[in-house]
Amino acid sequence: MKCALCGGNLSNQQVIEEVIEGTKHVIVKVNAGVCENCHERYYPSGVIDKLIDIKERLKRNRIKLHPIGKVYETV
Ligand SMILES: [Zn+2]
Repeated sequence: MKCALCGGNLSNQQVIEEVIEGTKHVIVKVNAGVCENCHERYYPSGVIDKLIDIKERLKRNRIKLHPIGKVYETV
């Protein structure tokens, strides 16, 4: 498969996506085809559904999470 944007080669990689719901930020590792040229990501079927499902479960507090750090804000 080639990148639809630039025609570059795609390589299969594990990438990190972030699902944000209110003040909760959840890191999710997913597989994606990543363009070696422009870094556009192409997700296999099911990945987007998985991210949407995580967001929905976050909304309803129906998800098991473990903290991996703290998020701060500064001025
Ligand atoms: Zn590309």
